[in-house]
Amino acid sequence: MIEAFVGLGSNIEDPGKQLDTACHRLAALPNTQLVALSAVYESPPMGPPDQPWYLNACVRLQTTQTPESLLGALLAIEESMGRVRHRRWGERCIDLDLLLFGDSRIQSDRLTLPHPGLYIRDFVLSPLSDLVGSEYVMPNGVDIGTLLAGCTTGSLMKRDIQLPTVDSLGIAP
Ligand code: ADP
Ligand code: MG
Repeated sequence: MIEAFVGLGSNIEDPGKQLDTACHRLAALPNTQLVALSAVYESPPMGPPDQPWYLNACVRLQTTQTPESLLGALLAIEESMGRVRHRRWGERCIDLDLLLFGDSRIQSDRLTLPHPGLYIRDFVLSPLSDLVGSEYVMPNGVDIGTLLAGCTTGSLMKRDIQLPTVDSLGIAP
């Protein structure tokens, strides 16, 4: 089993519900267990400013899939949830990014690991920190707390929104 972390984001069509649905679909992936979920955060859009704020979260998976097959599965969930690509970094009902896959380092047309935005985005680092702790040292040798301190937006807010529990997803921790 390899440990993988997936970042979730949504800013249209009832984002809280979208994250909930995505968690259920992630938990149902073959050869994969969803073992932990972060809190939910709200963040301003990184791209065009004329779009709603985002809800973000992170989940921890254990999987025997390959990184490429897991990415394909994430893109298939996005598609099954009706994601339409409007414009770069534009509004989306669901975005599923593969943040880390064990200690894999990959740079291909289809997949970059670790995820290229991982070290500089507070809306990715904060939920990830919920799952591994702020002292966790990232593949670039820097701990999450230090990376978070270097993030400049400062607008991230934890929201009182509950994702499903691991138990309610029907999978033992
Ligand atoms: P973004 O998440 O930057 O807004 P998209 O969700 O539209 O962009 O994804 C565009 C492409 O990014 C995907 O088709 C996928 O092939 C590629 N990609 C490369 N590395 C990753 C990764 N680690 N996680 C998710 N997608 C990735
Ligand atoms: Mg994406």
